[in-house]
Amino acid sequence: MLAFTASPEHAALDPGEGDLRWIDELLDTMQSAVWGWADLDLELFEAVLLDGFGWTIECAPDDPARVARVLDVFLSFAAREYGAPHAPACCEYLRSPAAVDDIARWVRPFDDLCSDPLFAALSAPYNWCDGRCERCPLASRCPVHNFDLEPLRPVSADDREGVRAAALAAAHSIAARQVLEALEDRAGPGRPREPEPPAAARLRHSCREYAFAVIALRDALADVQPERDLGELRADAMLVAVKGGRVAGYLSDMGALEDEAALMDGVPNLLLIERIMAEIERCLADRSQVPGFASAYRAARDELRDLLRPHLRCVPSCYRDEIRSRVLIGGAPSPFSVSP
Ligand code: SF4
Repeated sequence: MLAFTASPEHAALDPGEGDLRWIDELLDTMQSAVWGWADLDLELFEAVLLDGFGWTIECAPDDPARVARVLDVFLSFAAREYGAPHAPACCEYLRSPAAVDDIARWVRPFDDLCSDPLFAALSAPYNWCDGRCERCPLASRCPVHNFDLEPLRPVSADDREGVRAAALAAAHSIAARQVLEALEDRAGPGRPREPEPPAAARLRHSCREYAFAVIALRDALADVQPERDLGELRADAMLVAVKGGRVAGYLSDMGALEDEAALMDGVPNLLLIERIMAEIERCLADRSQVPGFASAYRAARDELRDLLRPHLRCVPSCYRDEIRSRVLIGGAPSPFSVSP
C-alpha cells in the first residue's frame, strides 16, 4: 500500500477520503485466500466483488463508479509494479459500464444480502446450483449469471483432467469457501490449516471415483445415447466431484456437517449431489443392459451412496422444506426448480 501511495498512479487518482478502503479490502481478501498476483484473474476478481467485499464492509459504496476507478488505478499500478498478469483484463472490465452496474448492485454488506429472502438461511443459490442458467428461474436475479462468468459446468472436458478443470471453472464457488474460511479465521484465533479429517478424505475420494466411473461409461453408451445426453452426463458427474470436494471441506473432525457455514452451504450442496446422482441414475436406468455397462459404476455409486446416507439422514427437515417452498415461488436454482 505504501508503494501505491507513492506512485504516479495514486497521484493521478486525486484520492478522496475512503478510497483506499477498497484497495485494503481487495488486498485483505487476497491475503486471506492466499492468492498472489498471478492468481487474481478476471474470474477471481469478479468473485472478490461478488462474495468478498460484502463480508467486511459496513455500507454499500455511495459512488460505484468511483470504486471502479480506484480499483482500476490500483490494478494498473499492480500490473506495472508487480507484473500482475491478469490486471489489464480486470482493468478493462472495471472501465466498462457493466462493472459500475455490478458494483452498484452487488457490493453491499453481506448482512443486507441476507435480508433478501433469496440469500437467507441457505448460502446464495449460485453456490449450490448446477450452473445450467438456461433453465434456472433465478437467471435474471443471479449475480453469477449476470456477471457473465464462465459456466460452472465444463461440458467439453471428459477425463480426469476435466474434473480438475471443473474445479477451476467453479473458482467463484471456491472463492466463496475461502472467504468463509477467512471470516472464521478473523473471528477466531487463526485456525491452523489442519490435515483433512478421514471422513472428508473418504468423501472427496468417493465423489471423484464416482465421477470417473460415470465418465468411463461413455464408450459403452456412445451408440445408444445422443451426444447431448452424454455431454450432460459428463458434466453432471464432474459436478458431483466438485461439489463432493466442497461438502468434504465442511466436515468436522467427527465427520459431520456441524457449524454454521457447513449448514448454510454444505447442506444444500449435499442435497445437490443427491439430486444430481438421482438424475444420473434415471438417465442410466434403462441402459443397464447395454453390453459393457460397467460394474465399476455400480460399485462406485453404491460406495458413495453408503457414505452420503448418514449425512443425508442428518439433514434437518427444515432445509428440504426451505428448498421446496422456494421451488414453489420460483426461488430455487437449477436443478431443484426443474421437474425430474
Ligand atoms: S444456474 Fe441459476 S443460480 Fe446457478 S449460476 Fe445460473 S442463474 Fe445463477
